[in-house]
Amino acid sequence: MPGNLWNEAAAARQPALEGLVYRSTLLARDRSVVNIFGGNTSAKLMDTDHLGRAVELLWVKGSGTDMAAIPETGFAALRLAEILPLTARDAMTDEEMVEYLTRCAAFPNRPRQSIETLLHAFLPARHVDHTHPDAVISLACASDGQALCRRLWDHRAVWVDYTRPGFTLSQWVSRGVRTAPQAELVVMGKHGLITWGQSSRECYERTIRAIADAEEFIAGQRRGQKVFTPAADAPRNSGPPPAGATRDGQQAAACGAAGRRKRTRGGICRKRGRGSALAGRRRVSGSPGAHEARAAIRHLDTR
Ligand SMILES: [Zn+2]
Repeated sequence: MPGNLWNEAAAARQPALEGLVYRSTLLARDRSVVNIFGGNTSAKLMDTDHLGRAVELLWVKGSGTDMAAIPETGFAALRLAEILPLTARDAMTDEEMVEYLTRCAAFPNRPRQSIETLLHAFLPARHVDHTHPDAVISLACASDGQALCRRLWDHRAVWVDYTRPGFTLSQWVSRGVRTAPQAELVVMGKHGLITWGQSSRECYERTIRAIADAEEFIAGQRRGQKVFTPAADAPRNSGPPPAGATRDGQQAAACGAAGRRKRTRGGICRKRGRGSALAGRRRVSGSPGAHEARAAIRHLDTR
């Protein structure tokens, strides 16, 4: 169970980017919360540009940086007003997105922004955390993950189907949150968690609380010797893929349906490992499991 490690005195000693640096390193102290080089954090803060004009900047983790030891210089700074018009677009390739965001940089010599930058930019909250916690991934990878999240969080959570990180996923998350003003978190199928807050502390504590919720829920299911949906009872999805599902999403679902079989080497679910919140337990029916999702996440979004 991840503990709440927030310490006001320590936070006061690391005020950089309104606590963003302190919060990021604190989250990554527990690798069941932040995997190596995975996840990203951000803050939207007012600044002054080279002409003395007030400008709102999105500070977001640089691509390929590990949050465990990230310094202030590990964050990219982008002009938010130049990013937000992208919400009106319907599509954008990765190449277009990276080139566009590079042009939004406020300062030279900063690292390139995370591939998941738009997840942060499109949410209105001042502080945003995106993590791949073991416990939440265990739910996100279950064949009935959306229903499980509804049981656990009800309308406090928005569920978004799997698609690879990039423009489309960011649009889906943004639109999901806009239509659910009571939401406090987003679970992205076969991917991870997003939380937010108006302060670094609020954002951090919501992340930790959401993970604790998921762990308690899983433990409760296990005490009943019924970890999610047993294979014999698992509903068969004979209908079309869910609205918004992409080819990648179908591929990920197909990997899950493959269950215990070896995955194709080039596929999304290609690697077995250890450390799942479900390790040693009966597997979730139709789920690739948290550790296999981690392999997919490392492959996809530590760029
Ligand atoms: Zn991610």
